[in-house]
Amino acid sequence: MVTILDGKKLRDKILAELKLKLDKMEKKPTLAVILIGNNPASWIYVENKKRTAESIGINSIILRYPKDVSEEEILDKIHELNKDDNVNAILVQLPTPAHISKENIINIIDPRKDVDGFTPYNTGKLFSGEKPFAYPCTPKGIMLLLDEYNINIDGKHAVIVGRSNIVGKPLIQFLLNRNATVTICHSHTKNLADITKTADIVISAVGEKIINENMLKPNCIVIDVGISKDAAGKIHGDVDFENVSKIASYISPVPGGVGPMTIASLMLNTVELFELNR
Ligand code: NDP
Repeated sequence: MVTILDGKKLRDKILAELKLKLDKMEKKPTLAVILIGNNPASWIYVENKKRTAESIGINSIILRYPKDVSEEEILDKIHELNKDDNVNAILVQLPTPAHISKENIINIIDPRKDVDGFTPYNTGKLFSGEKPFAYPCTPKGIMLLLDEYNINIDGKHAVIVGRSNIVGKPLIQFLLNRNATVTICHSHTKNLADITKTADIVISAVGEKIINENMLKPNCIVIDVGISKDAAGKIHGDVDFENVSKIASYISPVPGGVGPMTIASLMLNTVELFELNR
């Protein structure tokens, strides 16, 4: 019988604990979010982050820029935020428009305020097995979810599908730190199903419905990071949830699995950076 990994329930628990902690603090953390352009999904994500932050007592500032803003203006703002003692966490909502290099922008965020854990300093720390100031939110949320359900990772074969800098690549390190044997797949991988069939844990972060029950071994653990919409506008993940649920031991749903955990991790990171810099 499959167990659903309930990200909403765990998010609510984490947020309730954070709120209790923040209620006792005289000075509150402040999260600054830079949003460039009018990508509708990005606007929704940012509003969601702001609403969640404010619901638990984190101050949030959204700095909105038109899509033709210069890179220089954004860089100047980040320098200003780096120096601002009232701001302890900085997030640049991705993607940025094509004329703005996301690397140039991320690289100058003060690593002590890098709430997404994307700066070279923090990724370097993660990959060398040391503690960064902040861990990337989505992989951190996945690990919290696995831990909540007491899923043992040690010695397991984990197959990650998707090698982005924000999900797949940092996940390698999280899983290695917990003694998993890790395989990472991407769009050039041949015979994906032959690889996923050997996995005890499959984590898919692609953005297309590509994982079905014939690609998995019975009782495997399935984490679905993907988010896409079908023709009717309904949100789904990378995994055929209905059929995979019949053979998996654990599965995270979309929506309601990894997405809420990403937000919970962002809030945890904001509070952790605040405590670090006080
Ligand atoms: P990217 O587009 O950066 O990466 C997608 C990855 O999938 C790439 O590595 C790509 O390979 C790989 N890929 C594409 N097609 C295939 C295929 N047919 N077989 C195997 N691998 C394939 O996406 P992100 O990592 O940013 O996001 C992935 C998904 O996760 C999206 O749907 C996104 O919306 C969602 N997401 C959800 C979050 C949440 O909180 N729930 C947070 C972040 C992302 P290659 O590198 O070769 O191009």
